[in-house]
Amino acid sequence: MHESQSLISAYFVVGLLGALVGSFLNVCIYRLPRHESIAWPGSNCPACSHPIAWYDNIPVFSYVQLGGRCRHCSDGIPYRYPVVETLNALGYIGIVWFFGITWSAAVYGVLFSALLVVAGTDLSHKIIPNAITFPGIVVGLLSAATILPLGFYEGVLGMLVGGGILWLLAWASPYLFGKEGMGGGDIKLLAMIGAFLGWKPALMTIMVGSFLGSLVGVALIATKVIRREDYIPFGPFLVCGALVSLFFGQSLLDWYQGLLAG
Ligand SMILES: [Zn+2]
Repeated sequence: MHESQSLISAYFVVGLLGALVGSFLNVCIYRLPRHESIAWPGSNCPACSHPIAWYDNIPVFSYVQLGGRCRHCSDGIPYRYPVVETLNALGYIGIVWFFGITWSAAVYGVLFSALLVVAGTDLSHKIIPNAITFPGIVVGLLSAATILPLGFYEGVLGMLVGGGILWLLAWASPYLFGKEGMGGGDIKLLAMIGAFLGWKPALMTIMVGSFLGSLVGVALIATKVIRREDYIPFGPFLVCGALVSLFFGQSLLDWYQGLLAG
């Protein structure tokens, strides 16, 4: 087999794995904010509780085949399901594209999926589950100590700097902006991101996340989708910032240091 062919089949397998894991992430997004077990029972329809057969649970494909409706009660299946499956598949393909088929790529795949669950639960319930961030911090530090080029101390520093800055911002924002800025979930989320990526990417995550958050916030207020005093979950923007840092962090840092060096 030609090299390009085997590469394409590798991407295909990785994408398929991503979609299958994405299907499980949907279960997490639905059940974690409700404090339900993610292991038992198997998938069932949120509307009619009818168990979902394996042939109706094939990522993306089943959604399209069923026309986005439950086979038993015809209730609409939220579009979040195929979206999360597709995003996780694309994320895994992107990670293998950037990092090759390596142990580091496997770790970043875990991080990507954790971030996707966080974005989903924060959008749907304004909750960033401890069930993701606490184990995530541990896995991040262990990976930094063993698999990732980062190293243990850089992971610890990332956790402290990331979590610490958001903690300070959360503490100061009633004085600075006259309203609560962030929740404890955001602090733990950034501690997790820092443990996986290190302190510079953690800072970049805050900068990119705040920039995107203000951009979208201003746009939503200007178009009267929300009011100025409405709460916008910050988690999804931090997730976007973390992904920018993961994929483009080094290039951005090089570019920035080039600017400083003149
Ligand atoms: Zn149903």
